[in-house]
Amino acid sequence: MGRRRKRRKKIIRKGPRLPAKFFQCPVCGNITLTIDFKKSDDPQWKIAEAKCGSCGLHCVFRVRPNVDRVDVYSMLVDMVYENRLDECRPVSEEEVEKQIEEIIREEAGSVDEGATQEAIGTDEGE
Ligand SMILES: [Zn+2]
Repeated sequence: MGRRRKRRKKIIRKGPRLPAKFFQCPVCGNITLTIDFKKSDDPQWKIAEAKCGSCGLHCVFRVRPNVDRVDVYSMLVDMVYENRLDECRPVSEEEVEKQIEEIIREEAGSVDEGATQEAIGTDEGE
């Protein structure tokens, strides 16, 4: 008589990916500040996005790929202390996307060779 063993599925627990780590928001003081990274088109740079769930602080930085969350956090803290937060006022998701696009475009624009813009004279007839 064959006994059927219940096969136990081995559950391999992958170590949890680093949970979104919360930092203390330098503006409102709550531990609700998250920092995420996004890729930019340029491998030399990545985009760091800092968001506070309490006061709505929302900051986008362009940083080197080896920069980690803690570095971004200290940049943010510096900005707050130096009162440069007008550079990253609370904005909507769309605005952030735009900002990121602009950053990428700026980066692309700096390598732009020979794109000449012609001034177009408009004749205003009567
Ligand atoms: Zn805050």
